[in-house]
Amino acid sequence: MIKVAKFGGSSVANAAQFRKVKKIIDEDPSRKFIVTSACGREDHEDHKVTDLLYLCQAHIRYGVSYDSIFKMIEDKYQRIKTELGLKIDLEAEFSRIRSQLETDLPTDYLVSRGEYLTGRCLSEYLGIPFVDASEIMAFKYDGTIDMVRTQAQLEPYSRKYERLLIPGFYGSMPNGVIKVMSRGGSDITGAVIANIVNADIYENWTDVSGFMVVDPKIIPNPVRIKRITYNELREMSYMGANVLHDDAIFPVKTKNIPINIRNTNEPENPGTMIMEDCSRQDELDPPHFITGITGKKDFTILTVTKNHISSEIGFLRRTLSIFEEYHVSIENVPISVDSFSIIVTTASVNDCLYEIIGRIKEEMHPDRVMVQDHLSQIAVVGRGMRAHPGMSGKLFAEFGHSGINIRTINQGADELSIVVGVENRDFETAIRCIYQKFISEENKIT
Ligand code: ASP
Repeated sequence: MIKVAKFGGSSVANAAQFRKVKKIIDEDPSRKFIVTSACGREDHEDHKVTDLLYLCQAHIRYGVSYDSIFKMIEDKYQRIKTELGLKIDLEAEFSRIRSQLETDLPTDYLVSRGEYLTGRCLSEYLGIPFVDASEIMAFKYDGTIDMVRTQAQLEPYSRKYERLLIPGFYGSMPNGVIKVMSRGGSDITGAVIANIVNADIYENWTDVSGFMVVDPKIIPNPVRIKRITYNELREMSYMGANVLHDDAIFPVKTKNIPINIRNTNEPENPGTMIMEDCSRQDELDPPHFITGITGKKDFTILTVTKNHISSEIGFLRRTLSIFEEYHVSIENVPISVDSFSIIVTTASVNDCLYEIIGRIKEEMHPDRVMVQDHLSQIAVVGRGMRAHPGMSGKLFAEFGHSGINIRTINQGADELSIVVGVENRDFETAIRCIYQKFISEENKIT
């Protein structure tokens, strides 16, 4: 059994968190590849090391002294070293970084030092060999990860050592220059390593016990999602639920490696398993019809009406191309006989809404264009809904009982999600009523 265990910033925020990580690592020898983020925030007043490093860089760029910020970073690592009794020569590490700062230093090198230093401290504390990500994680010149070179570079280390600790978030270009990924990129490092070593599980340790069926800000203490498929997760994150970096899914999905979202502060909780196919587990432990409920507020609907619109070939395409010209992404297009609606986020048309309407009127000669704001979209996601007639009927009946007016409805043919549009003011009530009916009432597939 091979597990890749990635620890996020909150899991390594201070010495107390390091101790929790050690306990997790010590109790399961199959956790062979450890990937770490840079120290995150200890509390609301604190700052992530990566944010501080970006701030240092901005100060350098504008010729402002960065000493006080750099000192905050030094102090953080110094505290970890003292509290855990580590031997790492932090003075030497920081003076090396400082000397590089005086030169024409690329930003990426500087911001990668958060993961590097956290990795060095954690490696010593866990007693697991440290391997610099710049020697393993390889980028191509186009910025994508070079899986072939990464595999070749990792191999000698994984042959030599039982266990390895690798800092996340950065790697090196073909010329050796350090490059960082986008924010939250340690998730990607973990996923790439899991792919290369053919891990049985990719554990992603964070500060929540997996995904919740619904946002706890709307329903306190909601049910945890035990299992979710990659495709369901895509639907959920598209509508706003986010725990994992989007690009971390592909490397593990291609090899069918499950991702387990776990909580460093509650290690006994099994968290959420993300899998390509949950059907075997679902047979033993039937899931709810609904896996998750998510949504976003503040959409705008433009409704274009014209007699016999549906028989006018190209009308829809030409109208949509006007949005394309303004780089506005379209969320949804419900169509009827003499009209169609175009749903976009309100933020995306803030500056161009009236120009777009003017162009539609001028070029398409509609009978009417109507604009309505304050729309929310709610996605009800669930593999259990497939092939179960009556699901949408039950859902809509529930809305009717609660006096919620449904503005739009959209369901893909894969039956993985139903997206409904409601007024912003009905958003929370609608989510509560779906949760009440489909989750609280133990409405499971039998
Ligand atoms: N430390 C980086 C960030 O804050 C990368 C990561 O934590 O995954 O974005």
